[in-house]
Amino acid sequence: MIDIKGLYKSFGQLQVLRGISLKVSDGEVVCIIGPSGSGKSTLLRSINLLERPTYGEIWIDGKLITPPDPYLHFDVIRASNTYRHMAQERQLPPDSPEDLDIVRRIKEQDLLKPREGRPYLDLMRRIEREHRVDDHYTRRRIGMVFQHFNLFPHMTVMENMVYAPMHVNKLSRQEAEQKALTLLNTVGLMDKKDVYPATLSGGQKQRVAIARALCMEPEYLLFDEPTSALDPEMVKEVLAVIKALVESGISMVLVTHEMGFAREIADRICFLDEGILVEDAPPDVFFSTPKSDRAKAFLEKVL
Ligand code: ADP
Ligand code: MG
Repeated sequence: MIDIKGLYKSFGQLQVLRGISLKVSDGEVVCIIGPSGSGKSTLLRSINLLERPTYGEIWIDGKLITPPDPYLHFDVIRASNTYRHMAQERQLPPDSPEDLDIVRRIKEQDLLKPREGRPYLDLMRRIEREHRVDDHYTRRRIGMVFQHFNLFPHMTVMENMVYAPMHVNKLSRQEAEQKALTLLNTVGLMDKKDVYPATLSGGQKQRVAIARALCMEPEYLLFDEPTSALDPEMVKEVLAVIKALVESGISMVLVTHEMGFAREIADRICFLDEGILVEDAPPDVFFSTPKSDRAKAFLEKVL
């Protein structure tokens, strides 16, 4: 399961994600839709650690892939000196309802002060030690397919396919090529194994990019508008490959503007607007009776 908790992301003054919480269960297909600039790519890129969250945590299969966020661990804040001082000042009895209020008022700057001392630091370290994993863990489990394919232009299709399995997963060339051939066959591009990406059509490039992601045997696949850069006649061939993957049961988060396709394959639709997850509902519910005005306005434009 991917478990995103209270994710915030800012670029300078610009707040792009403003408190996203979202779970993706094993085998689930979640489609993310929303207006341009709403933070869809930033959300996907955060799951893949191409962006680092400003606040919040991301857990994958019970492992913490981001640094711990003290605000999601109230026990950590309660162990801080700042908390103790504030509670004392207000003469707060244990388990008082005001307790949560204080926890929420403690600012990050307070927790970073040297006077925080051992209990706070120890708890933060304990969380790191018990749950945190390195970036390799994430890279091995999560595959990503981009709008603009992101194939390495100076490598043949086969070289593109075997690079990560050999360097990250430490497969032998022979093992990696074997796997690559099987997958190229699945996407109907065996005969292209020795050509360079520049000689392929957009649809073929994207099918190679999908096969390349699958070479790592990821548990989760992220797609960021995989058909948006394609000529209309090539959209179908790529959607067909994605649909076959859905049927294979892999967990997937797909950002798309193909509403018909999303409706057909998604277990859930997540509608993002201005960095907020406005709706999270089964496709039938979302498309027939969107709750928010923002989703209604969006659907009127795109349907
Ligand atoms: P979407 O994929 O929904 O169109 P994005 O996540 O790409 O939205 O971007 C959301 C906002 O964040 C946009 O305003 C974009 O300009 C901004 N943004 C994205 N990446 C960066 C970055 N690396 N630096 C600064 N601003 C960024
Ligand atoms: Mg985007």
